[in-house]
Amino acid sequence: MAVCFFNIKITYKLHGVTKKVRTFASEKFNHLNCVKMKLRKLFVAVALLTAGFASAQQMPEIAVDKDVRIGKLDNGLTYYLRHNNHPEKKANFYIAQRVGSIQEDDSQQGLAHFLEHMAFNGSEHFPSGKMLEYLQTIGVQFGRSLNAYTSIDRTVYYIADVTTERQSALDSCLLVLRDWSSGITAEPAEIEKERDVIHNEYRMRNSPNQRMIERALPTLFQGSKYGFRMPIGKMEIIDNFKPEELIAYYKKWYRPDNQGIIIVGDIDVDYTEALIKKMFGDIKVAPDAAKVIDEPVPDNEQAIYVAEKDKEQQYPVLMLSMKRDPIPTDMKKTMAYLVTNYLSSLTCEMLNNRFSEIQQQPDCPFVQAQVSDGHYIQLARTKDAMMLIGVAKEGKEIETMQAVMREAKRVHDFGFTATEFARAKDEYLSRLEKYYTNRDKMKNDQFADSYIEHFLENDPIPSVEDYYQTMNMLAQNLPFEVVNQYAQQIISTDDKNLVAFQMEQEKDGKTYVAPEAMKKATEAVRAETLTAWVDNVKQEPLIAQMPKAGKIAKETENKTLGYKELTLSNGAKVILKKTDFKDDEVMMQAEAKGGYSILGKEAAINLQLLEPAQMYSGLGNFSKSELDKALAGKQASVSLNVKEERQYISGRSVPKDLETLFQLFYLTQTNINKDEKSMASFLNQMQMVLKNKSLNHQLVYQDSLESTKNCGNPLYRMPEADDLSKFDYERTLQLLKQLYQNGGQFTYTIIGNFDEQAIRPLIEQYIASLPTGKAVKTTDVRTFFKGRVENRFEKEMETPQAQTTQIWKNENIAYTLENKVLLDAATRVLTRIYLRTIREEESAAYNVGCGGQISTMGPKPVFFITAQAPTNPDKQKIAEDLMMKYITEATTKIADDDLNPVKEIMLKQADDANRENGHWMDVLTEWTAEGVDLQTGYADVVKALTPAKVQKFIADVLAAGNHASVVMMPKK
Ligand SMILES: [Zn+2]
Repeated sequence: MAVCFFNIKITYKLHGVTKKVRTFASEKFNHLNCVKMKLRKLFVAVALLTAGFASAQQMPEIAVDKDVRIGKLDNGLTYYLRHNNHPEKKANFYIAQRVGSIQEDDSQQGLAHFLEHMAFNGSEHFPSGKMLEYLQTIGVQFGRSLNAYTSIDRTVYYIADVTTERQSALDSCLLVLRDWSSGITAEPAEIEKERDVIHNEYRMRNSPNQRMIERALPTLFQGSKYGFRMPIGKMEIIDNFKPEELIAYYKKWYRPDNQGIIIVGDIDVDYTEALIKKMFGDIKVAPDAAKVIDEPVPDNEQAIYVAEKDKEQQYPVLMLSMKRDPIPTDMKKTMAYLVTNYLSSLTCEMLNNRFSEIQQQPDCPFVQAQVSDGHYIQLARTKDAMMLIGVAKEGKEIETMQAVMREAKRVHDFGFTATEFARAKDEYLSRLEKYYTNRDKMKNDQFADSYIEHFLENDPIPSVEDYYQTMNMLAQNLPFEVVNQYAQQIISTDDKNLVAFQMEQEKDGKTYVAPEAMKKATEAVRAETLTAWVDNVKQEPLIAQMPKAGKIAKETENKTLGYKELTLSNGAKVILKKTDFKDDEVMMQAEAKGGYSILGKEAAINLQLLEPAQMYSGLGNFSKSELDKALAGKQASVSLNVKEERQYISGRSVPKDLETLFQLFYLTQTNINKDEKSMASFLNQMQMVLKNKSLNHQLVYQDSLESTKNCGNPLYRMPEADDLSKFDYERTLQLLKQLYQNGGQFTYTIIGNFDEQAIRPLIEQYIASLPTGKAVKTTDVRTFFKGRVENRFEKEMETPQAQTTQIWKNENIAYTLENKVLLDAATRVLTRIYLRTIREEESAAYNVGCGGQISTMGPKPVFFITAQAPTNPDKQKIAEDLMMKYITEATTKIADDDLNPVKEIMLKQADDANRENGHWMDVLTEWTAEGVDLQTGYADVVKALTPAKVQKFIADVLAAGNHASVVMMPKK
């Protein structure tokens, strides 16, 4: 239960090495020479960087990876082709358009996004409905592997994970791209149908943050078209535009010179290139075609202060931006760009670490603060900004603004300390190493994402090898002072380019933050004299005294599922499965019987906060923040999960940090260390969320849903803010001890890239040494609904949006592979039927889906089928009736055309899953805990599915007569 306050997605575009993808070099070179050359380049880059971006020509360029073939047709269309075999025998297809909503005229607002929808509803070679239908026959599922997105300055379409066994299927995907590039028909009848779908999407995405940002946008982007171009557009335009207007946008902007095709996978590059030339070469561009021109975002000489309010805002959020010009596009090919990214990443990491430490002080005015660096408000590529975000405690909005500004100023005035820098550098290098370790298993979408950025944003695409060498060199050699200089440059201390935006709740009798007060607060912080930050670190091993190691007592092998089972001297079992799916991953999960069922009568809040109590505590001799610091540079983490009759510890690490992972498991089981400050800080955040939870329709709805499903059992409800005062930290830690201390009762499953010999001593040292304990007896604590249950309620809302869920339950179905497959197939077939009828025919919902669940936490398995849709309030009843109608119909009538594509997709997804560690973790833990083998014979069971079998299964689920319906309607 981690708390996240930011609905606005904060993308760390410039951060982290995992985001950017590079390939491995085919080039052979003299390593030593290369190192010297890189070092020289590096220092040239740093020198130039501190001198400003003026002398672009002198910067060393970053070589493009040789394993991607990049070409351009005469008409301007660019393509990127790369052979890659991860996942095996699959390919991804993309077409990126260098245009988005910023290209719209005033009268076209929303058409860029509307057009993206039309691309799936009729084109030259795929009349309405045929594209999805065809792609499904080759195992491509709409939504998951076939989709698109529209933003202010780009529109990207893709078909992912296409099986490469048949060349004709690949050719057809290229034909789809060709239709997207110039063959969308946008027929009037299809446009009419889509208007409502867009409305439904608008309703679904209309959060308070979204509304306030939209209102503030013209001020935040003073003097720029960015202030008026949210991709969703204006609903009055969506309702009334004429088909020719959409075609006009399409013809004007979707042109080969604005388009990039990216294909990565198990493809024949020469053949594909020839085919692209043939299929796209004849598309013409008029000589007088309109150019895509970057929309500038002007500087502001005076600070901009904006305050917005909304009745449904749960907590006050401040966004403070310090704008600056981005690195010029032509310099992104040079070392300066990589250096800048590195500096930016370290600056944010170190400041964020300070914020999380400050947050734990009782008198801290904010519950959470965060910094990011990238495009201004994450929207404009023509302006960058460092953005500070703060979520204030009640009535502490101005103090929060001052606190985040003060920390930025402290960095500006004194820089970071050497120990902070050392940790951030270690962390960076450790992530870089993880990325490099997995270089031979890079996936198609990782490569493709970086080529899309290269095409649209001119981001560099060096080989993995080159990138690793360069960044490693950079991180090892870059003097600490340079980071401080960089931070000083991007943190502003005067009015120029400062933009502060406060969002808060609108409520009767409340006093709001006024722009004038924000201005005064800013000036007061500027006048302050600060002192340097002091970094406290604990230098000692994680485990002060090593436990006495136990022994591996017995070893057997399971050939069917391919694992070894060790029995340890304390009774613990260890399942070992070594895989080569990812070179940088080891997963470990421990589980034992017990769960809530053995804890007896206990305050619900203590049970609900078991997991956070671990997450926000320290371990061994380390407080939470000392632990975080001690783990900098290690890629290892653990988390807990407690369920009705079982408790789990999940963890993962890279191979080199495996011992740290074992130590974290050991300490979690033996020595969770109370940390009052850290826990208080978490409780503050919870308080904030819970206090105004009634304003969040989604939370309210989920809460009602869980409550109906579990007959009001408080364990499944969101706590009230008042309940937090009943939380007993001490008692909760005792409960954790009771659940976790007896390691001998646990089964540990370890999957991934580990060394079979090296792992044995770790198992003996950290697992076999745990206490044995007694086997426990569990009871059934589940409280599911029975019979027919209805929960219909109304709620006041700013944007009316209904929610509809139907749940069917059966307790008399055996938990077997076949029934699991039937449940999965049934819900997928129902999703298809619902999408076709509820979304497409009736436009009653933007999205509708059906899912299955099996609860095994008791003596009898319980099967659920759940159908859910956020709906247009006027059509809620229609949606609800159709859910009922079509599930009833499916008990006697399922078309082959609905089942066959589902089988195709299930087989294909199973094929992909077989090469995922996570999938094997599920398979092996179900096998050891439930004795059900969900792997062996899976494909045969799927192939043997018939409409009659699925019909009977759905009929069986319904026959139990347990049906709950939960509906939320807007109050009129
Ligand atoms: Zn959309």
